[in-house]
Amino acid sequence: MGQTVPCILDGMDKDLKNKTLPELKQLVTQEQGRAFDAKYIFSFIHEKHIGAIEEISPLPKSFRHRLVEAGYRISSLDLVERFVDPDGTLKFVFALPDDTRFEAVLLRDGDRNTLCISSQAGCKMACGFCATGAMGYLANLTGAQIVDQVYQITRAGHTAHNIVYMGMGEPFDNTQEVLRSVRILNDPTGQHIGQRRITVSTCGLPEGIRQLAESRLQLRLAVSLHACNDRARSELMPINNRHRLSDLLDAIRAYQKKTGRRITFEYCLMKDINDSTRDARELVRVVKGIKANVNLIEFNEFPGCNYQPSDKATMHLFASVLQEAGVETVIRFKRGQSIKAACGQLGATWLQADRLV
Ligand code: SF4
Repeated sequence: MGQTVPCILDGMDKDLKNKTLPELKQLVTQEQGRAFDAKYIFSFIHEKHIGAIEEISPLPKSFRHRLVEAGYRISSLDLVERFVDPDGTLKFVFALPDDTRFEAVLLRDGDRNTLCISSQAGCKMACGFCATGAMGYLANLTGAQIVDQVYQITRAGHTAHNIVYMGMGEPFDNTQEVLRSVRILNDPTGQHIGQRRITVSTCGLPEGIRQLAESRLQLRLAVSLHACNDRARSELMPINNRHRLSDLLDAIRAYQKKTGRRITFEYCLMKDINDSTRDARELVRVVKGIKANVNLIEFNEFPGCNYQPSDKATMHLFASVLQEAGVETVIRFKRGQSIKAACGQLGATWLQADRLV
C-alpha cells in the first residue's frame, strides 16, 4: 500500500495521449520532428479528440508515418455501460483493453455537475465501508485513462463544472499518473480545466499529501477521516495501521503551511460506529487549528457490508455540534442510490443495476 505500482498496459510509453506537453516536446525532438509539432499533437488529441495519428493533419505525412512505424498510438477507453438514477445521477462503466472495468459518476446539483472519476480499477486500501475496497485492487490507470473519462463523458453532452478524484481507487497510490492527468487537463493547449475546479480525495497517505504540496499544483485536497482516534479509525480504515492519525494530521498541517489552502475532511456517518455527540466533539478537537470544512456523508449500504447509515436526526445533531463549535459543515445525502453510484458503492454490482437504454 502507498507505493506506485506500474500500469498494466504494455507500451504505455508509446501512448501519445499519456504525455504532458513538455513530454511531447521531448518526444518530438527525439523523433526528429519540428519543435512546434508537439503543440499540434497535444491539441489534436486533447482539444479536438482525434483518435489516430494519421488525423493530425498539420504534421508532415512523413512524420506521422514515422510515429506510427515507431509504435506510437493514441489510446481510447471503451465505454461499455451507462446507468441512470431517478435523481439524475449517471454512472459510466469503462473497460481497459484486457476488459478490466472501472466506473465514473456524474452528480447533478441544480445546474452544476460534478464528475467523479477513478484513478484505479478497484483499490488496495480495503476501507470497511466501501464496495470498491471489498473488490480489491485490479489496476492502476494511466494519465490517459484518467483524462479519457472526462473527455468521453463531456463529449456525450454532459458539462463537468467540477472534477473530483473520488471514484475507484486511492489517488496517492497512483500519484504520478494522477498528477500527470491533472497537468494534461489543465494545459491551455488542451481543455484548460482550472486547477481549482479539481479535487483530489485521499484516504490519508501522508507522503502523497506532501508530494501534492511540493507539486505547485493548485488543486483542492479532500481527506477521508471517518473517525477521530486511532482505535476507531483503524477498524474502519486499515491504512490507519500504517499511517497513524497523528502522521496524517502532521502532513495536513505541513501541506497547509506550504500552500495556505483550505482542505475538506470527509466524514461518513455510520450508525453507532462514529455518529455520537462524543464523536462530534472529538472531530471538533481534531479539526481545531486546521483551515478546513467538513462534509458529513450519509453512509451508503452495499451487499455484505457491516455498517448502517445514521438516521437523519442523528446526522443533523452531529452537524450542529460541529457548527456550534465554528466548524464549517455540510451534510451530503445519498445520490445515485438505485444504480450503486453513491459514495463508497462503486464496483462489483454492475449487473444488478438498471441500464440506461
Ligand atoms: S474509500 Fe477510497 S481508499 Fe477506501 S477502499 Fe474505497 S476507494 Fe479505496
